[in-house]
Amino acid sequence: DTQDALNPANLDSYAKQFFPLCMSTLFNVLKTQHHLKHFGRLSLLLFLKGIGLSLENTMELWRNEFTKNPKIDSNTFEKQYAYLVRHSFGQAGARVSYSPHSCLKIIMSNVGQGEYHGCPFKTWDPVYLKQKLTELGLGSQAVTSIVESASGGHYQVACTKCFEGNYGQAPASSINHPNQYFSEAVKLVKE
Ligand code: SF4
Repeated sequence: DTQDALNPANLDSYAKQFFPLCMSTLFNVLKTQHHLKHFGRLSLLLFLKGIGLSLENTMELWRNEFTKNPKIDSNTFEKQYAYLVRHSFGQAGARVSYSPHSCLKIIMSNVGQGEYHGCPFKTWDPVYLKQKLTELGLGSQAVTSIVESASGGHYQVACTKCFEGNYGQAPASSINHPNQYFSEAVKLVKE
């Protein structure tokens, strides 16, 4: 099972190949800014849990990235950031196992300044979206069609088209969950 093999060493390549745009965005911010605001942390943590990254590996990733931030030493990390990781995995607080967020929840969430937990098809302006999709290697026809759907408020349709552009095939059902995007993409490419 490919998902059992997920670990910090191959997570980058999984992120590049199989994460939907919302999660690759959060992952990139984590890796480059070594910080995410609360809802971004929560959304990415639950997604990572959902794709099968273990609590230990998630904690290692989190510690590595957050402590690269000059404002966060390992003491601060333990006090302010480690709890949410355990909490998200149901290992702290009420010990509830929280579900990864659906597209609807992500699309409906409020995204403030300096936050990245929204759906990029909604939160990015068309010019930026076009530029990013082109950078990701999608053809100009696909990019035009995706941006059109996004501008029309059809974010999940845009995401489904993006899936099709990336993997040459439509997903089994249209995208309504980032973890669905991931598992369908892995299945298509790896099996
Ligand atoms: Fe993520 Fe869903 Fe938006 Fe796709 S449609 S980017 S999976 S929130």
